[in-house]
Amino acid sequence: MSEAKLWEFQGGIHPPERKELSNRTPIQRVPLPARLILPLGQHIGTPAEPIVTVGERVLKGQPIATASGRVSAPLHAPTSGTVSFIGMQPYPHVSGLLAPAIVIDSDGLDEWTALEPCADHRSLEPAILLERIRQAGISGLGGAGFPTAVKLTARPQRKIHTLIVNGAECEPYITADDRLMRERAAELIIGIDILVQLIEPEQVLIGIEDNKPEAVAAVRAALGERSFGLRVLPTKYPSGGERQLIEILTGRQVPSGGLPADIGMLCQNVGTCVAIHDTVLLGRPLISRIVTLTGEALARPMNVEALLGTPVGELLAFAGLDEARMDRLIMGGPMMGFTLSSLDVPLIKTANCLLAPTRSELPPPPPALPCIRCGACADVCPASLLPQQLHFFALGREHEQLRAYNLFDCIECGACAYVCPSSLPLVQYYRVAKAEIRELEQKRHKAGHSRLRFELRQERLRKSEEQKEAERRARVEKAARARAVQAESSSVPHQETSLASRPTGLSEHQKKLKIEASMTQVALKKAEKQLAVHPTAELEAQVAELRAAAEAARKALEATTPAAPSAGNDTALKKAKIELAMRRTELKKAEKASVDDSELAHLREALADAKRALHAAEEASDRPAPQLVRIDKRPVDEKLRALKTELAFARADLRKLERDETIDPPVLESARTRLAEAERRLAGYQSE
Ligand code: SF4
Ligand code: SF4
Repeated sequence: MSEAKLWEFQGGIHPPERKELSNRTPIQRVPLPARLILPLGQHIGTPAEPIVTVGERVLKGQPIATASGRVSAPLHAPTSGTVSFIGMQPYPHVSGLLAPAIVIDSDGLDEWTALEPCADHRSLEPAILLERIRQAGISGLGGAGFPTAVKLTARPQRKIHTLIVNGAECEPYITADDRLMRERAAELIIGIDILVQLIEPEQVLIGIEDNKPEAVAAVRAALGERSFGLRVLPTKYPSGGERQLIEILTGRQVPSGGLPADIGMLCQNVGTCVAIHDTVLLGRPLISRIVTLTGEALARPMNVEALLGTPVGELLAFAGLDEARMDRLIMGGPMMGFTLSSLDVPLIKTANCLLAPTRSELPPPPPALPCIRCGACADVCPASLLPQQLHFFALGREHEQLRAYNLFDCIECGACAYVCPSSLPLVQYYRVAKAEIRELEQKRHKAGHSRLRFELRQERLRKSEEQKEAERRARVEKAARARAVQAESSSVPHQETSLASRPTGLSEHQKKLKIEASMTQVALKKAEKQLAVHPTAELEAQVAELRAAAEAARKALEATTPAAPSAGNDTALKKAKIELAMRRTELKKAEKASVDDSELAHLREALADAKRALHAAEEASDRPAPQLVRIDKRPVDEKLRALKTELAFARADLRKLERDETIDPPVLESARTRLAEAERRLAGYQSE
């Protein structure tokens, strides 16, 4: 298996390995710390959100913070105890700034919450496996810290044909993966089995540098009959970089700005594979990790399995730290690590090494000198970049140029700075430039988002205004229509006109009678009320008298008031008139169309019926019968009509000829004669 073809990536360096300091002793367990600090952001992506409160008792393995976005990961209590604080705490970052965290005071019992182990992962559906990995809060333990469940589904539409297991551990001093592979090779292989079950790759390649022969032997032994390819790589820094390892094992290059999944590959660190085993088979979330404690300032460099949140000072004390000898404290290795400003910061998921070197062991770099453009940095860059150009662009904050020169392909391996004769802190320039660009991008994104929200709001307001305007116009039109209908109806008196608005049409005599009737009625009611209170004979006689007077007044009024016209009769009359007009029109049309006699007779009969119906309606109505005015039409005088027609034609022809300037005078004269003759003949006939 180890004889399979390997490729070589460009660049790379061979710094002193110094792995022997820490790889000789088995992984140790550190004493349970009294207090654990769990930063909410221990992974790439959105920090987790606390789901516990101060004072709450928690059990080991109990979730204490939940993932708060697609790229996020939950947190679990590494031991049992009480949540004593939630807020800003020391955080392992080059800035030395505080970060939000949950603090747990251990109760010393280390009492587990109920776990859900599984004897055989093959009995679980892939979706359940993935969910377990997600809920366990596993993120890449090689140092990148990308949430593993997210990485496994980063390109759901792309088939992963090659699973690469990264056991290269190329950075000097660090031996956590080496010891893990030696001591937990069986769990590592089962973790890989679970990944195979999840993504069903065509091949699995395990890459381990040749400076770890014991780890290679242990993994080979644990493989058994599996067809996974174990590849032993020549030691060269940074062969453990994801892109570099893919190139070494497959000869393929991940495209600039892309992911391994873009070329059908997925890379997982050996520590992550073991964490997957622990989660699926033992039901344990990620609450601890293997970390290398090394450097000549430690009396007993070693690897320990430590609970997340353990203050690094306690870990180093366990390894026999001599603070007086320690020049500085580095989290990570000497190439990619960063200096910590405090021993109080906690161990987090991405911390694979704590390096406490003496001054002579890792002397501080000499003062930086100007770049001499020697090109040594470009020769060793494993990402095929131009580090000196990036350095100049970073100095000038030329962000577009930095992008054009693929700054974001830089894996911050530090190889360029390692060989730079001018001791330029190149990686620091790149980190600052990347942070600036990301910040600007975030601001731009935020501004774009705000602008989009503003535009959407404007659009909403515009639509709302349009809607209001349309409604207002509709109301105005409706009111105008209503006014028009009212005006039309008020011009035609009809039965629905209100009594109040209708003219009374009463004569003076009728008005007088009406007033008398109502006054008598009022007097009667008044007397009746008095009689009800004081029933005397005198009042009784007065009421009787008034009652008779009121009755007489009512009758007198009724006798002079005309009965109200009947609405029903009026409607019938109107209908009869319309019916008659329709029958008459039908008959006229039929006569013009020369229909046969039987049809004409039928229509004439219908017309006669309509006339009879109209007469009946007129009689039933209270309206006076229409006054029929007979107009005697004189018979048409055909001769007179012909003379008039001739006169009109003669006059029109003459006018037409007079407008024509080219007309012959004799023709014009003839037309005048014709007109004179027509006038004479008409006058002669009319005078007869
Ligand atoms: S190695 Fe240093 S001095 Fe040489 S080109 Fe690169 S940055 Fe400049
Ligand atoms: S730090 Fe970046 S630029 Fe420098 S060698 Fe590594 S990848 Fe290349």
